[in-house]
Amino acid sequence: MPAETKPTEKTRTAYRTCPLCEATCGVAIEIEGDRVVRVRGDKEDPFSRGFICPKGSTLGELHHDPDRLRTPLVRRDGRLEEATWEEAFAEIDRRLTGFFEEHSRQALAVLLGNPIVHHLATALYIRPFVLAAGSFNLYSASTVDQMPQHLVSGLLWGDPGVFPLPDLDRTDHLLMLGANPMASNGSLVTAPDFPGRLKAMPARGARLVVVDPRITETARRADEHLFIRPGTDVFWLAALVHTLFEEDLVSIGRLEPWVNGVEEIRALVAAFTPERVAPICGIDADTTRRQARDLAGAAAAAVYSRIGTHTVEFGSAGAWMTAILNILTGNFDRPGGTMTASPLASRIDDREPGGRGYRTNRWKSRVKGHPEINGEFPAAGLADEMETPGEGQVRAAITVASNPVRSYPNSERLDRAFAGLDFFLAIDIYVNETTRHADVILPPPSGLCEEQYELTFMNTAIRSFGKYSPPVFAHEGPSEEDIFARLILILRGEGVDGDPATIHDELVSQAVDRLLKDPSSPIAGRDRDEILAELEGLSPAAKQLDLRLRTGWQGDQFGAKPGGISLEKLSEHPHGVDLGPMVERYPGRLKTLSGHFELAPAQLVEDWERVSARLKDPVRQDQMLLIGRRHLRSNNSWMHNVATLMTGRSRCTLLMHPDDASRLGLEDGAESEVRSRVGKLRVAVETSESMMLGVVSLPHGWGHDVDGIRMEVAAAHAGVPSNVLTDDQVIDVASGNAVLNAIPVEISAVG
Ligand code: SF4
Repeated sequence: MPAETKPTEKTRTAYRTCPLCEATCGVAIEIEGDRVVRVRGDKEDPFSRGFICPKGSTLGELHHDPDRLRTPLVRRDGRLEEATWEEAFAEIDRRLTGFFEEHSRQALAVLLGNPIVHHLATALYIRPFVLAAGSFNLYSASTVDQMPQHLVSGLLWGDPGVFPLPDLDRTDHLLMLGANPMASNGSLVTAPDFPGRLKAMPARGARLVVVDPRITETARRADEHLFIRPGTDVFWLAALVHTLFEEDLVSIGRLEPWVNGVEEIRALVAAFTPERVAPICGIDADTTRRQARDLAGAAAAAVYSRIGTHTVEFGSAGAWMTAILNILTGNFDRPGGTMTASPLASRIDDREPGGRGYRTNRWKSRVKGHPEINGEFPAAGLADEMETPGEGQVRAAITVASNPVRSYPNSERLDRAFAGLDFFLAIDIYVNETTRHADVILPPPSGLCEEQYELTFMNTAIRSFGKYSPPVFAHEGPSEEDIFARLILILRGEGVDGDPATIHDELVSQAVDRLLKDPSSPIAGRDRDEILAELEGLSPAAKQLDLRLRTGWQGDQFGAKPGGISLEKLSEHPHGVDLGPMVERYPGRLKTLSGHFELAPAQLVEDWERVSARLKDPVRQDQMLLIGRRHLRSNNSWMHNVATLMTGRSRCTLLMHPDDASRLGLEDGAESEVRSRVGKLRVAVETSESMMLGVVSLPHGWGHDVDGIRMEVAAAHAGVPSNVLTDDQVIDVASGNAVLNAIPVEISAVG
């Protein structure tokens, strides 16, 4: 694709949202015939204001990638061969029917990958699909990197899906740990042009403090950067909380009448003095006290912690202490502090605080007895479930846009386990390191062939925003809704001849009926046929979306609130509709049983014993620790087949401080061997004074030089898979989250 083709009269422009990460940038896609000729930021998108990153400009390349699957593949005589859709569905039906004659439903694992949440139809159909599979063996990207936040949100304010979002545009002080939005563009927060929002801070006198074992791209923009020993964020955060109590800086403010557990927190952090944690974290006590005072003294401050804080042994405790800091300083649900999203497709009722609370541990995993959290088991426990014999052993899998052989810990073990399955169905656009083991691969349509609304990520957006985009290109195969509907029918035992329309109608009817029966719904008691008639003519997914929008907090309530939001209204605004920044939602949004913030829930207090024990008995300080890193041109494991993003020198290097390199007999560019408890790999060293002493960094998602993958560009830029080194037997116990950072490693020169 020519990168700089000038628009011609024949060029048309489609306005969309980049679906590659949660920043959800608006894009203007210029098209000639059936070719994308240019992708640029949409300057008229009121949320992203023209910003895109290098990945967004390659959407056309991704769409036209010759390696992207267009037809199903079925394994015949050991080889994946092209098949018709009917042949593929027939094979799935035959294999699954036979499988369930011999095995229980629990022997089937369902794995959901990150991209599913960017696709409207998948986001809407995934739950009924999982229910039809009927297995408790559900795994997703959530237990790879974000379950601590779900758990903390569920336990503290009663809703695991409501995340505390730093109010970037209004904050006076942002304390950031384990996050690098200059490279990632944000995680668990949807803020297009995160870099621009950070750069705007100094002009209004706001301060940015970054705490990270590496001077990251974000740290370079900060007013202050503090090195911290990997895996110890929780100790430092606890020392900040300790200082708030010690110096009488706790000031909860407006929400104080709705906060329980303050004294329990005071007792829990009593031993975590800045002096005590200093040798563990590597941050001196005076600095810690100063940071606590700065936080408490700012007019509005936000503490934001992510991957580096959450994907460690004490991930939930770290997320918990982050929330505690925001609440105790009066910065939770305060403009400029941390607030929560108000998505247009959601109902946000003004009501009395309180709800049904949050439950976990409703069932346990077979091998290790891990409790379910949000209905899922730990990704790190999957290999145990696949390899341990007995009733319910996982012998079949369905992956949806998931590449666990690269993204889950101890990836070599998982690679072997996938190779040995009785049946494996992948829904994916590539033959990658995982799907090369599949028996059937079903490729969903290209994102540009689907209608689009970022349903999931508006739940983490720092502004109330909505954009609906119709498909850019026609698609010849089945729609995403039809693929899932047919699989639901097969999983229900209704065979390959069932009509997917029955599933589409069922889902819309169920959604309408729920709203009609709910007395608090804006369409409670209305005429069912009248509502269904209003949705006529829309695609199955658009019907569900329109229903949500029209009954949402800004919806037109099917005519009862003229001028309100509807799909039709959004369609009139191709650049999107922005209804403003986050607003105060608490205490009315509290869904805990008590109707209060529960700062010290029993599950987290119990887990704190592990943190306290480690305070008394810290780990060796001379151990080299491995951390991950993000790059602006990468997106986990699946963007390495886009040639434009793979130019320049190799990015898959082991970053290391020059003093560590020289101590180990290594120099810049030398090959090293890195060993952990579970695996080893060889990788080139890149020395950099940006690294903390005793810490090395390797990006994740690489390792494409394996037999059977069909990604030519990626294979030519293979890199090494960091999850060969991460350990599936070490997890954040409270949430089951994988431990992908602070991995103990030994390093030596090769040769
Ligand atoms: S930051 Fe980049 S990848 Fe993410 S949505 Fe924006 S353009 Fe796409």
